[in-house]
Amino acid sequence: MTRVPVRDDLRALEGYHSPQVDVRVRLNTNEAPGEPPAAWRDAFAAELSRVAWHRYPDRAATELRAEIAAMHGVGTDQVFVANGSNEVLQTVLLTFAGPGRTVATFEPTYQLHAHIARLTGATVSETDRAADFTLDLEAALAAIARDRPTVTFLCSPNNPTGLVEPAEHVRAVLAAVAMLPEPGLLVVDEAYGQFADWSALDLLDEEVPLVVTRTFSKTWSMAGTRLGYLVGPRWLVAELDKVVLPYHLDSAKQIAGRLALRYVGEMNERVEQIVAERERIQRAFDTLPVDHFPSGANFVLFRPRTMSGRQVWQGLLDRSVLIRDCSSWPRLDDCLRVTIGTPEENDAFLTALQEVLS
Ligand code: PMP
Repeated sequence: MTRVPVRDDLRALEGYHSPQVDVRVRLNTNEAPGEPPAAWRDAFAAELSRVAWHRYPDRAATELRAEIAAMHGVGTDQVFVANGSNEVLQTVLLTFAGPGRTVATFEPTYQLHAHIARLTGATVSETDRAADFTLDLEAALAAIARDRPTVTFLCSPNNPTGLVEPAEHVRAVLAAVAMLPEPGLLVVDEAYGQFADWSALDLLDEEVPLVVTRTFSKTWSMAGTRLGYLVGPRWLVAELDKVVLPYHLDSAKQIAGRLALRYVGEMNERVEQIVAERERIQRAFDTLPVDHFPSGANFVLFRPRTMSGRQVWQGLLDRSVLIRDCSSWPRLDDCLRVTIGTPEENDAFLTALQEVLS
């Protein structure tokens, strides 16, 4: 026997999968439909040619942090940057979760919150949302009082449901975790924050146990770069800096992110186009035998009424349209999630969907 046993607590764990199938229309991973601006590509190539590759990168990613901070009107030392918001979440959980501690989630939500929490050895307290996927505030507050989580997650807009968490809910959950005998941290995951009409960034304060995470993968058309960040209290960012690996952000990535921030105007235009396309898809859903959930993100969750979710997903795949099959996930029976693509991709999706459902 040459295989080394994995940790006992990880043996039953399943990995996180999203199939990458070769299809004509790929609307399954909530990426941006278009590439970054051509001017960004040129500026990036020019700066890359000047990098001193034999040197480690700026360990503190100071310029990138400063520019993200300026965009949000906060201090550089209130921003933590990592390889995708997934690594931001991992660093938060390595710092504050771990064995003997509890992490609270409200399901269904982004699967990696619970998954990474378990990887750190923490116990996960999962509380169901209401049948329409809104937060059951009473149940949420009861779970926090009972399980006393060190880290509590809200995701707004929530993945995979698309629902934006109302500010009153975020305030109530924040008050509940802050008042625990040992205060807990509230993480608001805003990977899709730019598509929503409000942000928990407005609630940040040095004295409040709240952080907001964001990503360059969606609005910024840079999923290939793997860059995400967190805004939060200074003392907390300083703790994360101690936990993350030294030089975790390579030179190329720091340049890519810094240059991307020059194109805020273009990104905002893209967000508007995606929102308009989302509304078009939602109106089309109204004319089809599907139920759909209100979305403030770049995707929509829906449930066919006349066929199983799996059959519809397969029917679309047969027509070379790939969307996310959530139909076998807990609490998401028959649900499918479509990412908003280009107008042409969305047309192809809607035409295929009409065919499959007719
Ligand atoms: N949070 C949520 C809610 C997400 O949906 C995603 C991407 N699927 C992420 C975080 C991770 O994004 P990234 O690591 O690409 O920044």
